[in-house]
Amino acid sequence: MHTDLRSDTVTKPSQEMKAFMMDAPVGDDVFQEDPTVNELEKFAADYFGMEAALYCSSGTQTNQIAINVHCRPGDEVICSKDAHIYFYEGGGIAKNSGSSVLLLPGDRGRITAAAVLGGIKDPNNPHYPLTSLVSLEDTMNRGGGAIYDFNEIKAIRKVCLENKLPLHLDGARLFNALVENNIPPKEYAAQFDSISICLSKGLGAPVGSVLLGNKDFIHRARRARKVLGGGMRQAGIIAAGGLYAMKNNIERLKEDHHNAKLLETALNELNWVEEVLPVQTNIVVARLADHIDVAELIAKCAEKDLHFMAFGEQTIRMVTHLDIDSNNIDHTISVLKEL
Ligand SMILES: *Cc1c(COP(=O)(O)O)cnc(C)c1O
Repeated sequence: MHTDLRSDTVTKPSQEMKAFMMDAPVGDDVFQEDPTVNELEKFAADYFGMEAALYCSSGTQTNQIAINVHCRPGDEVICSKDAHIYFYEGGGIAKNSGSSVLLLPGDRGRITAAAVLGGIKDPNNPHYPLTSLVSLEDTMNRGGGAIYDFNEIKAIRKVCLENKLPLHLDGARLFNALVENNIPPKEYAAQFDSISICLSKGLGAPVGSVLLGNKDFIHRARRARKVLGGGMRQAGIIAAGGLYAMKNNIERLKEDHHNAKLLETALNELNWVEEVLPVQTNIVVARLADHIDVAELIAKCAEKDLHFMAFGEQTIRMVTHLDIDSNNIDHTISVLKEL
């Protein structure tokens, strides 16, 4: 049995999704004439109660476009030291937008309103970079899928409003947070000026992310996307996968969370596992005993067709998703127990 827990990006489109994609009407999306892209953008905007949306090639692109619209060269972005926008986007904040970062520590990557307030620089002091954006990530990837407390998000929003700062969300796994905490999407989205969501993570679409914001923001984002080479033509064929995913694959994310909890329990019973970050969504992060050679462990499991990733020192990450069922969980647990 093949069990791939490396990431929730490894999912492959189902027959139903592929049929939906094959039948999707298409047009030139740079001319804004692709009916399927237009439908996806409207669907996503309505779902979150935002004015407008933009379909993009990846979550890195939606984040980088948002930063580019919010910031000028020399400005500063406040985010977690573990934020994907800083850690995993190839230095894009500096490269694409000429902007600087203030990296805050936090509990599993979740920053606080107090820390954000303390990090905002006096805009009248010419020594300082101009703070021009606060960015959160929910769920927090490097925090092992940790979810923000919604009250903390509201407190951060208040700090941003009082200081006239836009608030961006890297919501690559926002749907995981919302189904787990039962927060209405519109109520959540109302806290942010811009939101990036990924369709190709837990939702299981093959390609794409959506950037959400008000009409003026998305108008400017469209130009930034073109500059980055992200204007696509008959993109409806892939956007259809995203539309299908949003219509069919959100509620089932709870199954992924259940499966991740089963892995957490099994890992906690192994004497060579030091600590498992308490599972909140679909990511399981475990720190292994010092005598374990992580590369060797991964290779041994790969021989039994069980795949996961190293995730920093003495640490592994397993991610559950659409293509992992209870048989895969049984397979994983039996391979780990037999080691
Ligand atoms: C995956 C991910 C992204 C976007 O990644 P792409 O591979 O560029 O789509 C952004 N933020 C987080 C937290 C992610 O996990």
